[in-house]
Amino acid sequence: MTDHSYAFWQAKAKTITLKNLAFINGEYRAAQSAATYEVINPATEQLLAEVSACDEADVDAAVSCARSSFDSGVWAGKTPSERKAIVLKLAQLIIDNKEELALLETLDMGKPVMDALNVDVMGASAILTWYAEAADKIYDEIAPTGDGALATMTREPIGVIAAIVPWNFPLDIAIWKLAPALMAGNSVIVKPAEQSPHSVLRLAELAIDAGVPKGVFNVVTGYGHVAGKALGLHNDVDVATFTGSTAVGKLFLRYSSESNMKPVWLETGGKSPNVIFADCENLEKAADKAAFGIFFNQGEVCSANSRLLVENSIKDEFVEKMIARAKAVVLGDPLNPETTMGPIVNRKQVDSIISLIERAKTEGCVAVAGGSGATIDGSSLYVQPTIFNDVTNQMTIAREEVFGPVLSVIGFDSEEEAIAIANDTPYGLAASVWTDSLNRAHRVARKIKAGTVSVNTVDALSPMTPFGGYKQSGIGRDLSIHAFDKFTQVKTTWIDFS
Ligand code: NAD
Repeated sequence: MTDHSYAFWQAKAKTITLKNLAFINGEYRAAQSAATYEVINPATEQLLAEVSACDEADVDAAVSCARSSFDSGVWAGKTPSERKAIVLKLAQLIIDNKEELALLETLDMGKPVMDALNVDVMGASAILTWYAEAADKIYDEIAPTGDGALATMTREPIGVIAAIVPWNFPLDIAIWKLAPALMAGNSVIVKPAEQSPHSVLRLAELAIDAGVPKGVFNVVTGYGHVAGKALGLHNDVDVATFTGSTAVGKLFLRYSSESNMKPVWLETGGKSPNVIFADCENLEKAADKAAFGIFFNQGEVCSANSRLLVENSIKDEFVEKMIARAKAVVLGDPLNPETTMGPIVNRKQVDSIISLIERAKTEGCVAVAGGSGATIDGSSLYVQPTIFNDVTNQMTIAREEVFGPVLSVIGFDSEEEAIAIANDTPYGLAASVWTDSLNRAHRVARKIKAGTVSVNTVDALSPMTPFGGYKQSGIGRDLSIHAFDKFTQVKTTWIDFS
């Protein structure tokens, strides 16, 4: 077994090879313009790599290769069992290369490397395995026409899928899209966030090793407003699936209407409530999970439980527990296995978090933990785990997505008030409810407008269950069998016997 010590990760970081070119038709290719952009390691603020900045010409090439591979039937024409065998190999190759992939995530975006290893990389492999195993167990349908006809409803792949993904879980979110799209028989182009291209670029190479034919899985690197936009506007992209900010998600709807009316699937922002009722007996567990819900991954989680709604009769006691947990966070070098919170992805994101913290202070909020940035080992991209107490739901800090380790605590007196506050947001991605009353759990879960309501836990997530948003948190669902709906279309074939 590998010894995952600090020294191990430091040594590996010095020798790792970074793939810095786009991946089109089974090979790494520089942008046709030869342009590059810089990726910075947030733990050092030093240059990590110069990566190809693809533009419309590169996107055209990737779409054309994806289209040819789709039309040739080299992948779409395989049986689900044949695709399964190949994708299971890819899932195993992810495990075989797990340290390298974890390190790539950490170097790009700063998450603690042990989380990258145990959560992101192992999760990516598990999701691929789940979809590979599911694909040859889904049957098509026959309509109840009676004896005079046979009408089949068969699911077919759609064609060329563009997946535009963010930097917070670069490998995982790519695989949330890639796994069902590939298993349904489509060809795919992934556009990683500019901050975090390396794990997906390595994955594309592993896919070739596993036997995925050339042109079926392509990666176009570069800026969102150039390469991402070109994919969104491309007339030969059949579906765009996006995870990122609500503002850019809305642009994809526009791109679709200005081009070929491609379906657009969106996973966007959130301001998820975590509601603690006084009848929850295990407040220690609730506090542990509430801390995880806001501090995991530096709070850079779309479903982060950023609004903590606590019944006023237990609020003081609960806030003390939260302060203790904020103090227990180990901020530091993400390569150190002792670290539980790394740096924020980049300067722009730090500035955005700090400006929301400062705004909260000017609106009268008091930080009972954290409340500022921090400099560690020469990097000034750290933000202290922060808790604002006595926030009202109208304050900016309770309304805007911070996408950082900042918690707003809001008190309530009744179930009705808690539900009203929970739903008073333009978002609806996730929510949590803590209660020992089964009746209340059902009642409140039904009334909260969110794609996932976790009861007596936070962020319940599994390949088996759909993930996605109500309201402005998105359109459509990732994960589960439902994700196949996004990447297949249903054909009716009616055979008349009369
Ligand atoms: P972002 O919207 O800036 O970028 C996401 C992707 O879109 C990146 O690949 C980026 O290059 C691309 N992009 C940016 N501008 C574009 C444009 N004009 N046209 C086309 N593509 C463009 O978001 P981000 O900063 O990468 O991630 C943070 C946001 O993502 C947060 O708001 C967070 O809530 C959201 N997010 C949501 C989920 C979810 O599942 N709902 C998951 C992770 C992150």
